[in-house]
Amino acid sequence: MRTHWCGELRPAHAGQRVAVCGWVHRRRDLGGLVFLDLRDREGVVQVVCTPQQPAHAAAQQVRPEYVVRVVGEVVIRPPHTVNPKIATGEVEIRAETLEVLNPSRTPPFEVADGDDVDESVRLRYRYLDLRRERMQRNLRLRHRLAKATRDFLDREGFWEVETPHLIRATPEGARDFLVPSRLHPGKFYVLPQSPQLLKQILMVAGVERYFQLARCFRDEDLRADRQPEFTQIDVEMSFVDRDDVLSLVERLVGYLMREALGVDVPLPFPRLSYRDALLRYGTDKPDLRYGLTIDDVTEVAKAAELRLFREAEAVRCLRIPQAASASRREVEQWVTLAVEAGAPGVLHLALQPDGPKGPLAKHLTDGLLDSMRAATGAREGDLLLFVAAAGDVASAALGKIRQQVGAQRGLAREGTFAYAWVVDFPLLEWDDQEGRYVAVHHPFTAPVDEDVDLLESQPLRVRAKAYDLVLNGVEVAGGSIRIHRRELQERVFRLLGIGPEQAQERFGFLLEAFQYGAPPHGGIAFGFDRLVMVLAGEDTIRDVIAFPKTASAVDLMMGAPSEVDEAQLREVHIAVRKPAAP
Ligand code: ASP
Repeated sequence: MRTHWCGELRPAHAGQRVAVCGWVHRRRDLGGLVFLDLRDREGVVQVVCTPQQPAHAAAQQVRPEYVVRVVGEVVIRPPHTVNPKIATGEVEIRAETLEVLNPSRTPPFEVADGDDVDESVRLRYRYLDLRRERMQRNLRLRHRLAKATRDFLDREGFWEVETPHLIRATPEGARDFLVPSRLHPGKFYVLPQSPQLLKQILMVAGVERYFQLARCFRDEDLRADRQPEFTQIDVEMSFVDRDDVLSLVERLVGYLMREALGVDVPLPFPRLSYRDALLRYGTDKPDLRYGLTIDDVTEVAKAAELRLFREAEAVRCLRIPQAASASRREVEQWVTLAVEAGAPGVLHLALQPDGPKGPLAKHLTDGLLDSMRAATGAREGDLLLFVAAAGDVASAALGKIRQQVGAQRGLAREGTFAYAWVVDFPLLEWDDQEGRYVAVHHPFTAPVDEDVDLLESQPLRVRAKAYDLVLNGVEVAGGSIRIHRRELQERVFRLLGIGPEQAQERFGFLLEAFQYGAPPHGGIAFGFDRLVMVLAGEDTIRDVIAFPKTASAVDLMMGAPSEVDEAQLREVHIAVRKPAAP
């Protein structure tokens, strides 16, 4: 039906008779002439219909989103009508015939604009939303990244192995989606929260290098930018240590950035310890597109004539360069942010040309001011913000301000990509609600060798062989070297409050497999949606998923979830218990 894409026509095509198909993007009727912008996946081209041609009559009938086929000659536009905003702007098609392949109802929003349309309308009419240039660009980028991932990993000797969706639980810290079994009344499959255990079993099975663009399902509480199903680039390798995995991932990312974006990222990525990340940035996923670090000034601050400082567990300071003259309102906003993040309060000190100003100024001797400057690298014109509290609380609060300042001052520049590794996570943390230790990564992560002896005596001091990859403040990947011996896995289960019987009942197949020659192994998984989101410059993963659900897990186009027939329920032996009305 077509000889060319609309979006591919250039001056080099002038003089050719072409056939193009697509959607009417815009239509302008200038009495004599009718101009159509015709759109297909590759772009928009201008079509001119003159009264002498049969196309003219048809062109008067069409409306936006009509599907048409146009045959005509490509001509160079006169210089004053060139449209530099579109790639085909130097040419137009002089239509001979215009055939309406399908009319369209008036769409609920204009595909040609569409950026400020309410998201629920966009999701309800997703097929119209996806016609928009921005969404097509995102789908294309996603495809390119998936393709480049497969190419790269194939060259590195990885096999893509599919793992089932109907499985027994693999815990990643969320709730499972259940699938009732028709053939086995009262029994259920669960949908995988990740292929974690199966990829480990593939290592026991001698696959050595596995990857999969894997769909994961997590029935999580509604918060932030989550989807009940999402995609991972899931990777597992045998006979590797941490640095092997990190180096593979760095090369993969380098390749993806070049292939999909034409960007060269410097390798290797910087590495930060978890403790340092918390101290210096107040978060384990810092945005490293800009500096603005937090300093520990506990010792220096003790010299101040201030009980608050002397008695605090820690005093931390964020230096904002050239912000001494920040308005009162601005400073108050920052203080509010920090207080919302748990800080008992914030003291500020503005290093004005005529001396330090702010509530702290009168408590500082000249000597103390000098040591503060030395500890933070502060210069005249800077603003120092202090929080006295438990160390992690103080840093987390200042970290919120850091983020805000980064955004307000445009430090987090679009189009820049700052990757970093966060390493040396603790293996366990104490969960107050559950009243037990829980795994920071997941229960299959290996402890650092030197720390294994501390497992029972000082469990919170045990570091994990785990790593996260952070990009512009977003955690894009996480993984670890795994436990591959039954005894150690059982010891860690015990610490997590999973006794021998429960371990046998839930993970017996893994423990058993470990007894038949499990190689040392480790891996990682990228949140593929998040990676595409950051690289596409979008703010939500919904914009890089073809058919996402709303924040409340609803598919507005298909209308899922929905009720099902009584007969279907009976077949799977389910009786619905509706929650009592609130
Ligand atoms: N399965 C882990 C996750 O989904 C990633 C990994 O450890 O490879 O977070």
